Amino acid sequence: MSYDKNNIFAKILRGEIPCKKVYENEYVMSFHDIKPQKKIHVLVIPRGEYVDLDDFTTKASDKEIVEFHKAITHIVKILKISNQEGGYRVLSNTGKDGGQEVSHLHYHIFGGEQIGKMVV
Ligand code: AMP
Repeated sequence: MSYDKNNIFAKILRGEIPCKKVYENEYVMSFHDIKPQKKIHVLVIPRGEYVDLDDFTTKASDKEIVEFHKAITHIVKILKISNQEGGYRVLSNTGKDGGQEVSHLHYHIFGGEQIGKMVV
């Protein structure tokens, strides 16, 4: 699948639509999900144009891949949900069967309460 520059997260990255920002750096941006499914529901996206996890791990540089994952640890500390503070769940929907709605790679970070069953 080719990258659609008009997807909603691309617009957030360009500042064309607002978001409730949690953290950003040279490699990533993180913001609250518009329809939170848990007490804390935050998204983290790479700044690069990657459709999904497969696209990312195939095309992104090692530095981008490392920084994306390191950012998660930083973000959960900002949110006070690190393992020492309660814990959290990271999830990435990929493609049709995975239930992906927005075609720009994103990880969901859930926390702030018991997240419950892994899959429903
Ligand atoms: P997925 O189904 O994994 O593609 O998840 C897409 C997520 O993006 C959903 O949880 C939506 O609620 C969320 N979302 C869609 N539009 C926005 C937006 N403008 N700001 C923040 N989150 C959004």
